[in-house]
Amino acid sequence: MRPPTPAARCTTGTARLGNPGYDDVLLMFSVGQVPGKLECFADGGSTMVRFVDDTGPEWSRRYRAMSTERLALTDPAEEVRIAFAERFGREPEGIWAAPGRANLVGEHTDYNDGFVLPLAIDHRVTVAAARRADDRLRLLSLEKGERELTLSDIGPGLVEGWAGYVAGAMWSLAREGVEVGGLDLALTSDVPVGSGLSSSAALECATVLATRDLYGGPGDPGRLALIAQRAENEIVGVPSGIMDQMASMACIAGHVLLLDTRSLVAEQVPFDLDAAGLTLLVIDTGVSHALADGAYAERRRACEAAARLLEVPALRDATEADVAAAADLLGEVLHRRARHVVTENARVLEVVDRLRAGRLDAIGPLLTASHVSLRDDYEVSAPELDTAVEAALRAGGLGARMTGAGFGGSALALAPAVEAGAVTRIVTAAFAGRGFRAPTVFAVHPAHGARRLA
Ligand code: ADP
Ligand code: MG
Repeated sequence: MRPPTPAARCTTGTARLGNPGYDDVLLMFSVGQVPGKLECFADGGSTMVRFVDDTGPEWSRRYRAMSTERLALTDPAEEVRIAFAERFGREPEGIWAAPGRANLVGEHTDYNDGFVLPLAIDHRVTVAAARRADDRLRLLSLEKGERELTLSDIGPGLVEGWAGYVAGAMWSLAREGVEVGGLDLALTSDVPVGSGLSSSAALECATVLATRDLYGGPGDPGRLALIAQRAENEIVGVPSGIMDQMASMACIAGHVLLLDTRSLVAEQVPFDLDAAGLTLLVIDTGVSHALADGAYAERRRACEAAARLLEVPALRDATEADVAAAADLLGEVLHRRARHVVTENARVLEVVDRLRAGRLDAIGPLLTASHVSLRDDYEVSAPELDTAVEAALRAGGLGARMTGAGFGGSALALAPAVEAGAVTRIVTAAFAGRGFRAPTVFAVHPAHGARRLA
């Protein structure tokens, strides 16, 4: 049977099945003319799909639930290849993928020349692309729709919406002297948008890699990450640091990436959750970080002011003792802001020491200390993030913290694998108890960075 187009539709909605420990959803759907029932359960990670009657097991191998309304082919590479062929009437020249990321520890340190410790997650943007003889870009996102533009349309502030990330990546590569021409490109992503897992960097990195392979350009992942970052900074206009693009480009499976954001020297540090019997859960609060822009700029200014008063090039160059000794000079607020940055840098290095010593199970308290510092000293948490952290710890988590810029987005919890269901249940109940929208909880695994799939 010919595979149906990716968006098979849910026809009768969903029903919670209530199996303890699982967020079960029953989908009634039809794929083409074939009706069926599909049970999918978020098993603390990848959504598993099982057919409960009618259609047979081969469908469950081919399909995954992207949402309660949309089925997708299990293999996103196959999905974008088919979508590309249907939309553009030819085969793509290649297929590329780039992951989102979670930052294990090292928050608000990147613009202070400090240390960060992200991992690539097993959620990614997958693109199929082929060159064109002219300068047109025809872009198809299976999640967001279609856009068409020409290369000469691209410039700072000129490309609205999601196309800016893709077009910006091509523009940025062209700024390196690469003769970039037109492109047909189809993409799909299972990186949650706006949850602090950097769907934007995944999109930029997948596009940079595809365009580089098709039109030429540098081979070094660090260089490619800077090209992707420039797209976000200059074309989209978001003043983000280099962490997200470096993680998406340079991580390798089973590791976290220790990145010195001053020198851009990156080191792979083993992070084998399975061997330690642990799981890393993302708790997506569903709260958008709308407040974040102004506060982010304000925190950056505060750090620059503190560094000036301490007479160091950046807070990276100050110690906890320096900051304590300058408490009066800094004043109450700058003192707390600077204390977060210097203690957070120290926590990153201490986490790395423990990981290198094979003590993954001993990093939990450092993650929790990071949260407390972000909540009390840096003041970028939110009630939902605090609730997620407190409930995860109560449920047996070894450590938990907000991740990303703050004011919303996601928290991370490190827990024994056997406690994943309990953490999910107790966090969900705590949210309900406080009248918050139900969070989405899922496990992430340290995955490989951007690469060509076909
Ligand atoms: P985050 O990076 O934390 O997910 P951002 O606001 O930085 O949040 O980036 C999200 C933006 O990235 C979306 O608003 C959209 O423009 C773009 N984007 C993410 N996923 C897709 C997708 N599947 N298709 C098209 N654009 C996407
Ligand atoms: Mg982003």
